Amino acid sequence: MSKKVVVVGAGIGGLGAAGLFAKKGYEVTVLEKNANLGGRANIFETKGFKFDMGPSWYLAPDLFEHYFNLLGEKVEDHLDLVRLTPSYRIFFRNDPERVDIHSDIAVDSATFESIEPGSSEKLQAYLKQSEYQYGVATQHFMYKNYDTVFDFFNKRVMTEGQKLSVFSKMHSFVSRFFKSRKLQQVMEYTMVFLGTSPYDAPALYNLMSHMDFNQGVFYPQGGFYELIKALARVAEKNGATLRTNSPVAEIVVENGETRGVRLESGETIEADIVISNADMWHTETKLLPQRWQSYPEKYWNKRTMAPSAFIMYLGVSEKLPNLIHHNLLFSEDWRKNFDDIYKDPKLPDEPSLYICAPSVTDPSVAPDGKENLFILVPIASGLELSEDQKNAYADRVLGIIERDMNLPGLREKIEYQRIYTISDFLSDYNALKGTALGLAHTIWQTAIFRPKNQSKKVKNLFYVGAGTNPGIGTQICLISAELAFKRVHGITSAGPLEKL
Ligand SMILES: Cc1cc2nc3c(=O)[nH]c(=O)nc-3n(C[C@H](O)[C@H](O)[C@H](O)COP(=O)(O)OP(=O)(O)OC[C@H]3O[C@@H](n4cnc5c(N)ncnc54)[C@H](O)[C@@H]3O)c2cc1C
Repeated sequence: MSKKVVVVGAGIGGLGAAGLFAKKGYEVTVLEKNANLGGRANIFETKGFKFDMGPSWYLAPDLFEHYFNLLGEKVEDHLDLVRLTPSYRIFFRNDPERVDIHSDIAVDSATFESIEPGSSEKLQAYLKQSEYQYGVATQHFMYKNYDTVFDFFNKRVMTEGQKLSVFSKMHSFVSRFFKSRKLQQVMEYTMVFLGTSPYDAPALYNLMSHMDFNQGVFYPQGGFYELIKALARVAEKNGATLRTNSPVAEIVVENGETRGVRLESGETIEADIVISNADMWHTETKLLPQRWQSYPEKYWNKRTMAPSAFIMYLGVSEKLPNLIHHNLLFSEDWRKNFDDIYKDPKLPDEPSLYICAPSVTDPSVAPDGKENLFILVPIASGLELSEDQKNAYADRVLGIIERDMNLPGLREKIEYQRIYTISDFLSDYNALKGTALGLAHTIWQTAIFRPKNQSKKVKNLFYVGAGTNPGIGTQICLISAELAFKRVHGITSAGPLEKL
């Protein structure tokens, strides 16, 4: 008889694990508390607009391909990926200059040179290093389970790490290449994707530039949720059962071994293996009794959480030609902006922000002649905001956008607005302090220092998702599923699996 696996949560890590274990022949049941699959990669539709609620940057397509290939599938049979050109547009606070990044070395070099003479060669050197770093990371580190500090700090890491300065801070690393504030910001903004700040993140994350500059930025036509549908389809095709509206109340442990889960409804589901994709804080402190917790509340009190987000989903009554698909606005005082998130938590007065306008590329996400906007301001997790504060902040942010992104009168053109922020992340996803992304990728919360994907106390209890290794990001959470698969099967190789 095949072994039973219960997966708690249908985020990307959970769906990813469901596919892998189902393909291997396990009897898999996924239990998701919400009405939709996908976790933070959620969706809602209203008044003719279709809003992707979370991720919008489809980066590192090779990592998605790897996952689908492992299951005997091809990405192109599931997703209609468009490469965006330009990849993204950058606006600067109190500055009319705009920078379009094309992910084309010739075009981008010329752009860099126009901002900082001499920087085009530096860009090329920087991107060579990012590419190298990405190759080393994907072949030797990201697909590896760590058990001891020596697994991570091996000879290769120590010698290459020193040589490449990957343990210095991202900001000082970038500053060695680029002197102008603007170019430093361009190379550092991706740290926000990792829930950290360039002043804290290790320079090894310069590999992110390989993704956006060298590989390019993609979009699945129909919206990011098409990825969730594809993952669900593949898992179900291999026999997994996906249940929504099924919140789990407890992971059942007997004699130090998991026996399955109990739902809030009272139903019990037996399992040989439980894989939790719910936020690790929630899994550990709410779904397990204290004696079985590997990471109790006091562990979490000392952790740095990634930012939350102040998000506005807007339906706009007309097209906004100043915007392209991905748009970033960088504040003038970059360090203060990060301090407002990490050091002295408050709503940033002068925020950096991101606007996704998927209707520029995809007519299916907005009615004809209208624009679908997703506006995201990274803010500290754990803040308590009243409705009045939220509305006032929304107005302030929209005022900044009108001025600095040259969109006068935007506020009068809004025909639908929904604000989504800290308390929503907490109630929708059981996210500690309402973090949008999970545990930040500081150096002490990376690799061996991140919570392990296996319970230290409960046999046959494993974890997937952004809270464990490798960490935050859609494709990265698919790797977490592969790591749990390797862990269960005792596979210790460092690179990606070639077959299941
Ligand atoms: C606003 C935003 C923008 C982002 N942008 C990008 C981007 O552009 N590109 C990118 O690659 N990544 C992006 N990310 C990050 C990426 O979306 C996440 O890292 C990833 O989706 C997290 O997946 P996960 O596997 O950790 O699961 P999660 O998404 O955290 O899902 C966990 C699931 O567990 C469920 N759950 C919790 N408790 C229970 C329970 N008791 N019982 C049952 N179910 C439970 C939750 O409801 C949820 O569905 C973004 C994230 C956010 C929030």
